[in-house]
Amino acid sequence: MTRRAIYPGSFDPITNGHLDIIERSAKLFDEVVVAVLLNIDKEPMFSAEERMDMLRSVITWDNVTVDSFEGLLVDYATRQNAQVIVRGIRAVSDYEYELQMALMNRRLEPRIETVFMMSGEAYSYLSSRLTKEVFKLGGSIKGLVPGLVEQRMKARLKGHTED
Ligand code: ADP
Repeated sequence: MTRRAIYPGSFDPITNGHLDIIERSAKLFDEVVVAVLLNIDKEPMFSAEERMDMLRSVITWDNVTVDSFEGLLVDYATRQNAQVIVRGIRAVSDYEYELQMALMNRRLEPRIETVFMMSGEAYSYLSSRLTKEVFKLGGSIKGLVPGLVEQRMKARLKGHTED
C-alpha cells in the first residue's frame, strides 16, 4: 500500500521551517502532497499561484508534489487517497490549536491520522507571519526562507512602494 501524506498550510510564504518538515516527511512516506489552503480570510502577501510556484521551485524531492485545496481538509485528504495529515509543532503554543484540529479531523474522518513533527530546533521560533513582519521592517531574513523566496519578497515590497 502506498503511504500518502498531506502537508497542509498557508505557506505565505514557505520558510525553511516548512522545508525541514517536508524533507523529513518525504523520508517517512511514499508520497507527500504539500497542499496550499485557498480559503484563508486574512490578506495574503502572495496569491495561491505565487505560493505554489515558490513551493514547486524549492522542493527537490521526487516524491513530493504541490497542490491546493478548498473546504474541509479531511474531504480533500480522502479525495487524494491519503492516510495521513502532517503538521509541524514548534512550541507549546502550537499544541493547543493543533490538538483541537487533529481531534476534530479525527471525528470527521477517523480513517485519517494526524502525525505531528517537531520543528527543527533552528526553526522553532520561525513563522511565515514573523518573517513577513521582520522583512517589512527592514530586518534580515537570510537563512529563514529559501533564497528565491527572499528575492520574491524583495520584489513584492519594491512593487508596493512604487505603487
Ligand atoms: P497555517 O496557516 O495552517 O498555520 P502555516 O503555513 O503557517 O499553516 O504552516 C503549516 C504547518 O507547518 C503548520 O502545521 C505549522 O505548525 C507548521 N510550521 C510552520 N512553521 C514551522 C516551523 N518553523 N517549524 C515546524 N513547523 C512549522
